Amino acid sequence: MSESSYAPVPQALVVGIYDNHTHLDPSGVPGSEEFDYHDHLDKGSSVGVRGVVQVGTDLESSLWSAELAAIEPRVLAAVAIHPNDAPRYAAEGRLDEALATIDELASRPRVRAIGETGLDYFRTAEDGRGAQHASFEAHIEIAKKYGLALQIHDRDAHHDVFETLQRVGAPEKTVFHCFSGDADLARVAIQNGWYLSFSGTVTFKNAVDLRDALEITPRHLLLVETDAPYLTPHPFRGRLNSPYMLPHTLRGMAAHLGTDVSMLAAQITSNTEQVYGAWDAEPVTAPRDAYTDETFEMPPMTGAIRLPQLPTEESTT
Ligand SMILES: [Zn+2]
Repeated sequence: MSESSYAPVPQALVVGIYDNHTHLDPSGVPGSEEFDYHDHLDKGSSVGVRGVVQVGTDLESSLWSAELAAIEPRVLAAVAIHPNDAPRYAAEGRLDEALATIDELASRPRVRAIGETGLDYFRTAEDGRGAQHASFEAHIEIAKKYGLALQIHDRDAHHDVFETLQRVGAPEKTVFHCFSGDADLARVAIQNGWYLSFSGTVTFKNAVDLRDALEITPRHLLLVETDAPYLTPHPFRGRLNSPYMLPHTLRGMAAHLGTDVSMLAAQITSNTEQVYGAWDAEPVTAPRDAYTDETFEMPPMTGAIRLPQLPTEESTT
């Protein structure tokens, strides 16, 4: 695949919004040999996507996310060990060490969320679930320790995710990233005051349950995301996703709700700042060297990036 696997830039929004969950790090982007996050942010800016939350899934991408947020005004960071990566760290005997690093990253400026964390019974088998549960609970505690939002990844694990949040105590700002439940599940989340973040999947033709959930979600608990490079909204399903594709999802949601796109954008922007704070609340800090940790080999932060590997579609959703 190449840059041509990306869809054209959509018509610009009148009222801007934020993409509260995306992956611009090199390990998160499949397909293209050269990926320029700056170009994708620029395209986002050109259509009204004012900023993004860049989400880490392991130590390398979490550090990358924190470093990017420190130098790029349109980016805030979320840091975590992904539920499908936790068993790997545990098997290598370094889950505790990894969680300690996440704790350290959580204290950095412009890191405003812990995520994505949660449970994934689709990709992690029975024998990895002990590590997954321990990691999830540790992430919840880190979010509460620093007063950060929590971004939940829940795949085929609805019951246990809810049980864990209720038993351990959810952070004040808890977000179901790429909400994948039906109206019944949405009701439980809503009763707890948790946020539902809808991705491009809400525009898929067969996503009737998801749109039912959208319909009953109070507007003040709505968020929107791309989860780029995956889950590209209709009518570009199958192409690579990018923050600049967010208007398609917002417009799909507004059409389904029978509401004005700009009014919905204004509401979601306000919700997003409620959860993560304002993008300009903390200034970016140059030079980035101040945040470079010598234990990691960082990819270049500007220009084209060489990709270390091509992840599979489900690996970060
Ligand atoms: Zn993700």
